[in-house]
Amino acid sequence: MKAQFFTEQIFSHQAVYEHLIQASSEARPQQSFIFAGPDGIGKKTVALRFARHLLCDRNIAGGCGTCASCRFFDKPWSWHPDLIFFQRFEEPVLIPHSELDPYVDHDRGTIEQLLQQLVDDDWIAGHHNCSQAGSGFEAVSLIKDLVYEKNAQKPLPVRTRLEKELEKLAQTDTRLPELVQYIYSSISPYTYSGTLKVDAIRQALILKVGEKPFLSHRRVFILDGADTMTTEAQNALLKTLEEPPYATVIILITAKRNILLPTVKSRCRMLMFTPLEHTGLTALVRALTDLPEPEAGFRARAAHGDVLKALMIDPKAYSIQRQQMLNILKHFNHYTCADLTADQAMLTQDLARSNHELYITSMQILESLISDIQYILSHDHRKQTDHILVHEDIRAELETIAQKFSFEDIAYLAHEFQKLDRRHHSHVVDQWNIITFLQNINLHFNGRKHR
Ligand SMILES: [Zn+2]
Repeated sequence: MKAQFFTEQIFSHQAVYEHLIQASSEARPQQSFIFAGPDGIGKKTVALRFARHLLCDRNIAGGCGTCASCRFFDKPWSWHPDLIFFQRFEEPVLIPHSELDPYVDHDRGTIEQLLQQLVDDDWIAGHHNCSQAGSGFEAVSLIKDLVYEKNAQKPLPVRTRLEKELEKLAQTDTRLPELVQYIYSSISPYTYSGTLKVDAIRQALILKVGEKPFLSHRRVFILDGADTMTTEAQNALLKTLEEPPYATVIILITAKRNILLPTVKSRCRMLMFTPLEHTGLTALVRALTDLPEPEAGFRARAAHGDVLKALMIDPKAYSIQRQQMLNILKHFNHYTCADLTADQAMLTQDLARSNHELYITSMQILESLISDIQYILSHDHRKQTDHILVHEDIRAELETIAQKFSFEDIAYLAHEFQKLDRRHHSHVVDQWNIITFLQNINLHFNGRKHR
């Protein structure tokens, strides 16, 4: 499997997956799909497993693993010629340490040093070391100029350039080219950055659906981040989605299905993917990392069902961030001008970091704290309950804070968060929204005092 699809597990999506397999053998199978649901919960994994099944020569559920198509599909260094996968460049690649280990000469350096050298040489944009946290994964972001012809918006990578660069690299350290190749092999030739433009959709999808498959009897097109398609691109795709040529399957993957045009949505079968509930995610984190239950559980709850985030959380940094949010919560009842300004500054500064895909924003932490308090206020905590709070480890502190709020206050805060979700559009808007959000809260609590 490719690096970022580090697990072949379907998680809790078994039912969706089985439905897909079954439906694909109908006389007139559905050919256009939308996989919708939050990031990091396994939509792509299911899409790729389904693609392997569709491309297999032997019509065995999930793919036989031995036919020419399956063998090509499973090759670690190349992509199946009949799988056209529009991958998002911005998404970090997650690499298990066990995969990195063969490239490490333990007498000469650690994985950390090896990756640092790649950062210094501009091969990867950065890497998030989580070996301290013990989860055994490394997230790297790639430098696009090496894979892309600058500004040309061509969907194809500059393979030859990559090879030449690798040759040069081999002169400095023999371990590096292999490692780079390993990391870059996980990038699809149809990787795109930013938005999916109409030219890319025409060249790599609309024109290609008419061609004969190379190796398999079908062609599968997967568009990750389908919501980044420009309106022009979406409109250009309508006819193909409506009547895909025989032997073509198109899967649009999105975490923001509302951004897709109604005309696109109406032409596809929409499958909803729900986040992993935290016991399932805890089990998965444990299976992938050998972390003990309390830590795995903490990561699972903090990550809101997102597997990648659960693996990459730095518990220390997270605790500091959470403490800041607890302080903000304590301000809500009696804001001073200075506190209000300081809190606004802190939350808007935090926005700048949220460009990183794996970053858990302070606003998300704040929201989960409020949802825990809402639970505490609505249930008699003296009674035994199986419900585990997201922030179970600081339950006592949350119970003390909860005493300062009425149930109506918390319902009001939850409502303000819902409004924020709906308004989430751009960085500037987000920044303004946070300021308005805190000001509304201030007004709400001030009004209550004077009533
Ligand atoms: Zn097969």
